[in-house]
Amino acid sequence: MKTKVYLDNAATTPIDERVIESMVTVMRENYGNPSSTHSVGQAAKSIIEGVRRQVAKNLKVQPGEIIFTSCGTESNNLIIQSCVAHLGVERIITSPMEHKCVAEAVRDAKTRNGVEVVYLRADSNGEISPESVENALKQSDKKTLVSLMHANNEIGNLLDLETVGALCKTYGAYFHSDTVQTVAHLDLDFSKINIDFASCSAHKFHGPKGVGFAYIKRTSRLKPMILGGTQERELRAGTENVTGIVGLGKALELCMDNLELYASHMTEIKRYAVEKLSQAIPEVRFNGYSADLNKSLYTVLSVLLPFKNPLIGLELDMKGIAVSQGSACSSGASKPSMVMMMLLDDEQLESTTPLRVSFSHQTTTEEIDYFVEALTGIYQSSKIEKTNVEHR
Ligand code: PLP
Repeated sequence: MKTKVYLDNAATTPIDERVIESMVTVMRENYGNPSSTHSVGQAAKSIIEGVRRQVAKNLKVQPGEIIFTSCGTESNNLIIQSCVAHLGVERIITSPMEHKCVAEAVRDAKTRNGVEVVYLRADSNGEISPESVENALKQSDKKTLVSLMHANNEIGNLLDLETVGALCKTYGAYFHSDTVQTVAHLDLDFSKINIDFASCSAHKFHGPKGVGFAYIKRTSRLKPMILGGTQERELRAGTENVTGIVGLGKALELCMDNLELYASHMTEIKRYAVEKLSQAIPEVRFNGYSADLNKSLYTVLSVLLPFKNPLIGLELDMKGIAVSQGSACSSGASKPSMVMMMLLDDEQLESTTPLRVSFSHQTTTEEIDYFVEALTGIYQSSKIEKTNVEHR
């Protein structure tokens, strides 16, 4: 069945037609290798540098602090691996709720390099308190990296970057935040935050897949993990993905030009979804601070359904609705995600079903109605099934 309703925008977003057009033009007209010294190469180089300046202006950082990569995963790996390999980081403070690409890079630093890892406990809403960050920072003089994501990709909880950044400054720790879910959705100003490293992925904001960037503070002296040529300020070897970088720039421009409009639309959509779901399924709950519009990102709503149905994603898919049962990277797994294991007790894990619904500026209230109607049908069937089991 053709997907009628796409509600999995935290996994990826549909690419904007104007982004495609910008990329096709560059693909046709700017085939030069940006490292070539002739004019064909230099034309491609100047296109990349234009996007670098645009990104830097947007985050209020220096162009030389933006390093284009292939994705958010690569950016996070580059930052964590190089902090350990080249900056003498011996200790990482992080949380069990990070995206798999951060979690695995940290785990690898522990097993291969003997880095001490401190996992901060989140409260029952999935919040990491600044006090817990400070307590962990206080406990050791080892060179430390704090790695905490800005918006959680499963529940949308937001971290207060300013406060955590200030603590890192006080205790002389590096601060990395995975900002993959927030770049182009929030107005980030890194000139006002003590942050050393951040990451971005274009496909999360209607850009192409296979391109992202790492923000690397100039003074941090990170070194490359991919070796070869001198591309990307000698921090990431390999011929640049000129087309992808142009797409990233165009997608960022479109989102930033419409930031307020898109944000208020998605905020309304989220409010509407919470209201409709609560009316249709009175026992429904929302995970973490997902339903709190002040404490979570407007793109993500994590729903906790009052019945167990591991196949719900498939059932909704058959009705033409694309949602996620966790993050895209773990949704194929039968185990509950780490985030859900942190938030839910054993009984809840046994008797409920988490569902991540995520919006874009293209999402409409009609689509939410269609989704809620489909979900209500599944909920009613689950009630009938439960009654039948009880009377058997
Ligand atoms: N970090 C977060 C918070 C994400 O949501 C994702 C993608 O799901 C990534 C990192 C990885 O980004 P990419 O798909 O570009 O590798």
